[in-house]
This record gives sequence, C-alpha cells and structure tokens, in this order.
Amino acid sequence: MRLPFRQLSPTIPSMKTAIFSTKPYDRDFLVEANRDRGHELVFLEPRLSEQTCRLADGFPVVCAFVNDELDAGVLLTLSGQGTRLIAMRCSGFNNVDLRAADRLGLTVARVPAYSPRAVAEHALGLMLTLSRRLHKAYNRVREGNFSLDGLLGFELGGRTAGVIGTGKIGRLVARLLAGFGCKLLAYDVAADPEVEALGARYVPLDELFAQSGVITLHCPLMPETYHLIDDEALAKMRRGVVLINTSRGKLIDTEAAVRALKSGKIGSLGLDVYEEESDLFYEDFSDQVIQDDVFARMLTFPNVIITGHQAYFTETAMRAISEQTLENVTAFEQGHTPPGLITADTAHARSPCGPQS
Ligand code: NAD
Repeated sequence: MRLPFRQLSPTIPSMKTAIFSTKPYDRDFLVEANRDRGHELVFLEPRLSEQTCRLADGFPVVCAFVNDELDAGVLLTLSGQGTRLIAMRCSGFNNVDLRAADRLGLTVARVPAYSPRAVAEHALGLMLTLSRRLHKAYNRVREGNFSLDGLLGFELGGRTAGVIGTGKIGRLVARLLAGFGCKLLAYDVAADPEVEALGARYVPLDELFAQSGVITLHCPLMPETYHLIDDEALAKMRRGVVLINTSRGKLIDTEAAVRALKSGKIGSLGLDVYEEESDLFYEDFSDQVIQDDVFARMLTFPNVIITGHQAYFTETAMRAISEQTLENVTAFEQGHTPPGLITADTAHARSPCGPQS
C-alpha cells in the first residue's frame, strides 16, 4: 500500500484544508495533485455559506469555488475559527469580499490562469452550436427526423464579432474568431497589441454594440460590469445579434435578455453562466420542478443554449487548477507569497474602478 507522503517526508509541510462544494471529479484531481505535497485534505460536499462555514472550524485553509459565499459575515466566522488562507480553485473572485479579508488578515489566493483555451473553445462551441442549430439537429436525427426545415444556419466567417474583455480568454477567442475569418472589434479598459495584431480594432462599447453580429463577453464581474448587458445596451445592438456569455452571469440582466429574445433583438443566446446559477448549477434537479421562472423561460427558447458553468471543465484545466490551488497552499505554509495572491489593492489595479468589495 502506498504510504501517505508525510510519512515518507516528514519535513514537507501539511495544511489542514477544508474543501467546500466538492464533487467526485474535484476529489480525484486534488488527491492526485496532493500526492507529492501531503496536505490534509478534507472534502466537504456543501457549498460554503453562513449556514455551513462552521464545518471549517479549526481549518487553517479553506478551499472554495465559484458559487461559494465568501461575504464579510462568512469570512469573519472563518477567521474566528482559525482560518488564515482562502484558496480559491478558480480564477474569478467576485464572490470574495476582498476588503473584509484584508481587514481580517486573511490571505486570499486564486488560480489566475489554468487553461484559457478551455473557456475560449467552449465559447466557440456555443457560437457554432447556435449558428448551425446543432442542438436542434442532434435531437431531430435521434428521432428519425431528417428534415432541414428550421435548421437554416449562418456562417461566422465574414461576420463582425465584438469581444468584450481581451484578457487571457478574450485574446484566445479573438484568435479563434480571426481564424474563422471574422472581422474583429474589441473593447477593454486597456488595448492589447497582440489582439490588434489579429486585425481587431478597439472601439467604444456603443460602437461595438452597434456594429457586431456576434458579441462575446470575457470581462470580469465588477460593479461597473454588473448588468453590462441591460435594456439600454441591447437597444444599441443589431437586430438578430448572437450573444455569448462564458464569463459571469451577472454581466447580463437576464430579464432584459428575455425581453430581447421575445422581440427578436437577440437572434441567438449562448450562456455558460447565469446570474442566479448558485441555486441551480452543479446539482441534479432532473426530477424536480425548476422554481426559477426566469431560467425556466430561458429554456423555452429554441435559439438559446445554456450549459451549467462547464466551460472550464477539461482534463487539462482540472489538472492545472488542482496543481495551482495546492501550490498556493504550500507557498503559504512555507511563509512565501502564494503565486495566486489577490488582495483588494491588486484587484483594484486590474480595473480603474475596482472590484466588488
Ligand atoms: P483576465 O483577467 O485575463 O482578462 C479580463 C479582461 O477584462 C482584462 O483584459 C481586463 O482589462 C478586462 N476588463 C476589466 N474591466 C473591464 C471592463 N470594465 N470592461 C471591459 N473589459 C474589462 O481574465 P480571463 O482569465 O480572461 O477570464 C475572464 C473571465 O472569465 C473571468 O473574470 C471569469 O469570470 C470568467 N471565467 C469563466 C470560466 C467558466 O468556466 N465559464 C472559467 C474561467 C474564467
């Protein structure tokens, strides 16, 4: 039998880590990444919240995910119970009150880049599914229906695509769209020469809205990007626009999107994220009635495709997330700065207006 690593190398540090929102695949990848690190990992299925944070009593490290709640109240309880490091196993940190963490002396680390390609390719997957009606064709053929009525598609090449947020993921999406022969427009708080070299033109947001046939969101969720796509923004867009969101649900006012779908303003909508996803995603509700009426309405549109925050979910990404999460834990234990350290100040430096506090 394989000995726990700490018994082989007692000098290697071990951090007792409470891992919230654990799914079997999280456990598999984290256990594998921990083989040569020897941290004491305790896997907890519940989502981290005010009600569940007591489960982490006595754990110096809490590892959390995208829909865990790390507001000031939860952080205060965790800090009082002895937690010193919050190790996010994701890149976004909009669900962490970084100012409260700073005040409490809690270190927060995340995984800034694990596989931007995973998310970029998923965004393209949503675009192609919608443009060629693959979601409808899949079901039709399985039922022996080979009619093409209603499956008329459109080509991405030659269309103008607007990329909002040209960081690690947005830059790759721009590259993939350039490969398809799209004309590229971009919007970001800072232009990226690499994206410009692809032929993209940085334009004001209103111009991107007005000219793009496809709009894809890759900026972080912050106060100034909350409901970036609302009634006003949608009114500026071209009729029949294809809108893709693989970033964060709250970038889109979903009720405004429903209105725009009903009026035909939005021609196709591809979502991997949803503003109220924390009550739905990552759980199996297939034998229950969905209580969220807005989400249920979205599912009725033939030109909407929704995936449950799975854009990141590839083998490459899961391996990288697990490695980098535990690397942050090891660095912290050894008294070094975790490579994925994020503070309210460094988060502010990423944007002129700063993140949610
Ligand atoms: P990144 O930090 O590399 O890039 C974000 C870009 O957005 C930067 O270029 C930044 O300048 C820009 N930006 C900041 N404020 C902006 C604003 N107000 N308007 C327009 N652009 C703005 O991040 P990334 O790795 O490319 O990830 C982008 C987002 O994707 C993350 O914030 C996260 O929410 C989301 N994400 C989703 C998944 C998934 O599985 N669906 C996985 C990973 C990341």
